[in-house]
Amino acid sequence: MTDISFTDLGLSPAVLQAVKQAGYETPSPIQAKAIPILLRGENLLGTAQTGTGKTAAFALPLLSRLHFSSAAPALLILTPTRELAIQVAETITRYAAHLPKVSVVPVYGGQDIGIQLRALKRKATVIVATPGRLIDHLERNSIDLSEIQAIVLDEADEMLDMGFMEDVEKILSSIPETAQRALFSATMPVSVKKIIERYLGRYSEACIESKTSTVEKVRQRYLTVRSEHKLEALTRVLEGEEFDGMLIFVRTKQATAELSEKLEARGFNTAPLSGDLAQALRERTINRLKDGKIDIVIATDVAARGLDVNRITHVVNYDIPYDTESYVHRIGRTGRAGRDGNAILFITPRERKLLKMIEKATRQSIEQMEMPSGEQISERRILAFEKNIADTIENNPLEEFRSVVENLSEKLSLPVLEIAAAVTYLAQKGQPLFPEMETIETLTESKSSKSKNEKASFDGDFKEKKRIRKERKDGLDGVEEGFERYYLAVGRKHHVSPRDIVGAIAGEADIPSAEIGRIKLFDAFSTVELPEGMPKDIFKTLKKMFIRNNPSGFRLMTDEPPPASSRREKPFRAKSTHEKPFKERSGNKPPRRTRRFGRH
Ligand code: AMP
Repeated sequence: MTDISFTDLGLSPAVLQAVKQAGYETPSPIQAKAIPILLRGENLLGTAQTGTGKTAAFALPLLSRLHFSSAAPALLILTPTRELAIQVAETITRYAAHLPKVSVVPVYGGQDIGIQLRALKRKATVIVATPGRLIDHLERNSIDLSEIQAIVLDEADEMLDMGFMEDVEKILSSIPETAQRALFSATMPVSVKKIIERYLGRYSEACIESKTSTVEKVRQRYLTVRSEHKLEALTRVLEGEEFDGMLIFVRTKQATAELSEKLEARGFNTAPLSGDLAQALRERTINRLKDGKIDIVIATDVAARGLDVNRITHVVNYDIPYDTESYVHRIGRTGRAGRDGNAILFITPRERKLLKMIEKATRQSIEQMEMPSGEQISERRILAFEKNIADTIENNPLEEFRSVVENLSEKLSLPVLEIAAAVTYLAQKGQPLFPEMETIETLTESKSSKSKNEKASFDGDFKEKKRIRKERKDGLDGVEEGFERYYLAVGRKHHVSPRDIVGAIAGEADIPSAEIGRIKLFDAFSTVELPEGMPKDIFKTLKKMFIRNNPSGFRLMTDEPPPASSRREKPFRAKSTHEKPFKERSGNKPPRRTRRFGRH
């Protein structure tokens, strides 16, 4: 959190309007530092990681400054993974909502190149690309970098760590010398330093220092949870934790109102607190929290500045803060007046590095938290129910109700206990005392304690890295997890293409194309990866099939290496379904690629 406002930074009115719509109150520290540098047209070295607001740190000034008058790309952003490419492209599209000449195209490996070629032909003034795929396009002349005015290397350390050094250098040497350059990296390994030395020229730096400070009276915990499960996880935390007052931090003004509404709908008494509200209303909300009229307030950093309410026992960082200073400030809202406090931090898998940064700066390790279980929640609901009943008995005249129960007991010839059980059953229907809870995947941090599944899904980036590394190695080593590799006695010299292979397998065995993994074409043969555990009848069918009038020679491959002459072939991944020439199972959703045979 900074004292500077977005309007002070000199961004263009169209970009400012988009920032306003995004609900950002103040620039994050990296934004406050990087935006002026990039607006001045200087090169930039940014030390920041995901979660610090770095996308806006480079996108907002570059969108404000560059000229998008030509149809050729003016801005190029390189990212290490396709997920990040997609995310950055989406974010920039939002920031460019009021810049009609800006058209953002993501270009990444794993997507059918035809789709990208069509998008590039339409118009592409901003390209967000993974290096390998960009090189493919440069080789095909489908992207012209001659009018690039600025290039950004996002997550440079990750990118170089993934073996993209050569590609990155090639790209950097094909853009105009005059282009402005920005490089963001969380760490500074030798590979990144080399790129800086060779290609960044004169540059200014923007980094976020992590001031060390301690917050001893607060018990700090974190929960790793995917973004889509955050709300459900928060609901469980609210039910599973014993708290008096709670402050929940989110990043935007809109989010305060939205989350407040969602929690209200789930039966919690909450109020939003953001800079959007008039001072009087803000004060009223804080007073209601002080008096116990509400227990939960959802706030932005700005609105909660200096908030001093003794009954706040919990601070929940629903959205992670951008820097350690904000974190320390946020959690300092609890544990006041000599009491103990609790801080719970939600982190998504991509934000793990921020957790480490916070731990380092606060010199405290943050404990991993278990998601409250169904039983714990059941116990707490029963306790609350019992208290409610006891209070009702103490505070209400129940004479008439007692006689209703007595009469019913007589009428039904049932003991009062049975009647009470039925009344309890009816009373708990809205909020079951024995809830059946869906399992929310919480992701553990320590690799050693991870189960196989958790490991696979722990971080999309990790998977992507593995995939890229695998694909970049020539040869046949490394079959995708959950798949087995099969041999086909047909290759290029039989004029067979990956399409023919997909068509034949999908057509003969009725295997959905989405389940057909990597195909590699060699001169005399090819290989295809299919889900593990193929049933015998499918195997027999595929053994008998013909591909372009040649017997398939289909068999499971042993681990023998391919002939040395064919080791330099490029893998091909059959991915999109709409371009396949074979029949699809109508009405079926494409099954997940990692499913095994026989499970669907
Ligand atoms: P990034 O580090 O670029 O991945 O951004 C992390 C998240 O912070 C994204 O969800 C952004 O939309 C959000 N964000 C970026 N800048 C701001 C800001 N100044 N105020 C509030 N949220 C922001």
